[in-house]
Amino acid sequence: MPEKITMQADGALSVPDEPIIPYVEGDGTGVDIWPAARLVLDAAAAKHGKKIAWKEVLAGEKAFNATGSWLPDETVDTFREYLIGIKGPLTTPIGGGFRSLNVALRQLLDLYVCLRPVRWFPGVPSPVKRPEAVDMVIFRENTEDIYAGLELEEGTPEAHELIALLKERFGWTIREDSGVGIKPISETGSKRLIRAAIKYAVEHDRPSVTLVHKGNIQKFTEGAFRNWGYELVREEFADVAVGWDDCEGKPGDKVLVKDNIADITLQQVLTRPEDFDVIATTNLNGDYLSDALAAQVGGIGIAPGGNINYVTGHGIFEATHGTAPKYAGQDKVNPSSVLLSGVMMFEHLGWTKAAADIERALEATIAEKIVTYDFARLMDGATEVKTSAFARAIIDRL
Ligand code: NAP
Repeated sequence: MPEKITMQADGALSVPDEPIIPYVEGDGTGVDIWPAARLVLDAAAAKHGKKIAWKEVLAGEKAFNATGSWLPDETVDTFREYLIGIKGPLTTPIGGGFRSLNVALRQLLDLYVCLRPVRWFPGVPSPVKRPEAVDMVIFRENTEDIYAGLELEEGTPEAHELIALLKERFGWTIREDSGVGIKPISETGSKRLIRAAIKYAVEHDRPSVTLVHKGNIQKFTEGAFRNWGYELVREEFADVAVGWDDCEGKPGDKVLVKDNIADITLQQVLTRPEDFDVIATTNLNGDYLSDALAAQVGGIGIAPGGNINYVTGHGIFEATHGTAPKYAGQDKVNPSSVLLSGVMMFEHLGWTKAAADIERALEATIAEKIVTYDFARLMDGATEVKTSAFARAIIDRL
């Protein structure tokens, strides 16, 4: 019988064998990749005696056409009620009152972690020599930083007023013709993000957590993020983790928490990827880092993501690419990003065997060079198949 996923008193999810899971198909190529991914997810769940009672909710163009709203309240309420959901890509409405539907959903449900695992699947075309050395999990803060949307446009009375106030109150000189934005980074927001990253490292036997920041320049925002991270290790994780300065880089059998400046990190994830494992970082750094890392392992067609609040139990897993409208409805693009987001969702639900099965079957399919156009154009001797045929090939190998 279909049942709701609920949160237990100890903070763990209680997942029935037939959970109700809301999904948004997505705009553009959503019509191609979502049905394909769903077939694979259903087949893998069935293999382990599970079934998903999918519940469609609307967002994006499909919602706008049906209801006049890009993000109906009912959609947000359903995600809130059923805790865990999944979504395809959404068109960003231009002048629709939202910066981005994805950002709106993250803020409405306070999904404070953007989780992006980055690993390479053998055979996937990559621009680097050793893509197999990339195996990282990025925890990107999802609610603060310049994404808070606190910006004033150049030339507006509000911008002039703020510039004048800052001059009068703090003696700050800002050019009159400036747009102005505010970058808030809080102790609360930083610690809950870093807490989730350290817990993940401990639970998944990962050796290190790197705090990536730009604290050499932005001392009281990015620098504070770093300091709060080390403080948290001492306050809450002394038995299982240790900060670099407290062990001179020799953590024994504890998780090592270290830190790195953002710009050098973007070099080092290329030149010595082995040094990085779990990464915890602020919102903008995390945005750059996750796309740069995705490129090393085959690009956005295959990069999955999840947005999670570990305290309330809410999580929405999502394709990380956009709607690629020029390919919409052609049964052409790669469904791996939304499929692997489903794999992340299964892992989050504790359905680890079904998740591992899908990963193995996807690996086997790619190893046989059965791929969609995006990989086929970069591989020698590939068999290019459509989105739906790619999904069937994965199911055959489950
Ligand atoms: P995009 O949709 O991500 O597409 C850019 C390019 O990425 C495509 O032209 C294609 O490359 C490749 N690509 C995207 N999805 C792919 C897939 N499933 N398989 C293989 N290749 C894929 O970016 P965009 O064209 O800049 O944005 C289109 C719309 O999506 C906009 O409305 C944007 O706001 C929105 N968007 C939504 C999300 C989201 O919902 N998470 C994220 C980003 C953008 P080739 O041309 O080389 O084949």
